Amino acid sequence: MPPSLPIYMDNASTTRTDPRVVEAMLPYFSEIYGNSASRNHCFGWDAEHAVNTARRQAADLIGAGPKEIIWTSGATESNNLAIKGAARMYAKAPAGESGRGHIITAIHEHKAVIDPCKRLEREGFDVTWLEPGEDGLITRAMIEAALREDTILVTIMWANNELGTINEIPAIGALCHERGVVLHTDATQWVGKMPTNVETDNIDLLSFSGHKIYGPNGVGALYVRRRRPRIRLEAMIDGGGHERGMRSGTLNVAGIVGMGAACALCSAEMDAEGERLFQLRTRLERSLVDSMDVVQINGNIEKRLPHITNISFGFVEGESLMMGIKDIACSSGSACTSASLEPSYVLKALGVGDELAHSSLRLSLGRWTTQEEVDYASLQIREAVEHLRAMSPLYDLHNEGIDISTIEWDAH
Ligand code: PMP
Repeated sequence: MPPSLPIYMDNASTTRTDPRVVEAMLPYFSEIYGNSASRNHCFGWDAEHAVNTARRQAADLIGAGPKEIIWTSGATESNNLAIKGAARMYAKAPAGESGRGHIITAIHEHKAVIDPCKRLEREGFDVTWLEPGEDGLITRAMIEAALREDTILVTIMWANNELGTINEIPAIGALCHERGVVLHTDATQWVGKMPTNVETDNIDLLSFSGHKIYGPNGVGALYVRRRRPRIRLEAMIDGGGHERGMRSGTLNVAGIVGMGAACALCSAEMDAEGERLFQLRTRLERSLVDSMDVVQINGNIEKRLPHITNISFGFVEGESLMMGIKDIACSSGSACTSASLEPSYVLKALGVGDELAHSSLRLSLGRWTTQEEVDYASLQIREAVEHLRAMSPLYDLHNEGIDISTIEWDAH
């Protein structure tokens, strides 16, 4: 039976909120609507109780203590709080002066890490921007080579959102702890999909988000280590002193309840779901790679999340490819920046050429992806690629064995 259309294969962008999560949230809009900071009546106590339950659920998912969870509006805010908060707290010189301290990050991090680091650069911090290898990975050795006497913070994502590639965070964390440097990891794509234990994984600060794990939008969390060592942060939002003074503002109780429920479901179902998605992704990749030439999977092939694939199709034009697979919601290797189509900076960081970056797709499977959907998507993509190649004179030349890169084009 053909699947119902359109097909959602963009789960790395956001996920459908699990109906069980919606169910858990509903009472907190109209029945238990107190302010969780209201200490003198039962409406407040009930809300606070719900927030604490969710705190425990989020903490359990990552092997933390409940007091180490700070609620935020999402991973963007968690990253900002972690990076700016730690840098400003551990700065070696006052604001306005140079030489405030050294930070290590990478050029293909999410913008929610890159932009806070750029701001800190303007504030007098020194930032080392590591470049990944062709496989997209940042290794312990790369961090070790970049560490300096004045390094105060390392911020490296656990899994890349465009590629799904996995960095060796536990090894990087061990190194940071040996050197007394704070480690933050943007684990937005990792948490809820892969087992996490902030203790044994040697992490000080970890960002994650509700809407990537089948919870609601607009709620996220930051793990802040309390012991060995205790990490302190300068707050970005001042006010009523909520969340141990690190993030003031009345809590989004319904959202937090939803994120807690989403975390509990991930804890229970992650292993089986990961295996199922791995099988589906393998089926999808095999059917594309085995049936066509000039198809390349980007990023390290082994060290990847089970549900994401990033594939380039040579000799097709990216926009036309996207038009040809209108029933499949996925992301392209291009980003629209101010009216111009830019190739993905992540793919560029791996050395993927502009042409190939433009003709890349990121397909990310999720909790409701079926085998029928995978097979249908594969067929659609193959048909679209073959159709476009049939019209491509360059592909004809390639088939005749001519190396396109050696052709000298006449510029009349
Ligand atoms: N970091 C990564 C790696 C992400 O994939 C995303 C979401 N695209 C974010 C941060 C931002 O998360 P949020 O939407 O919760 O602010």
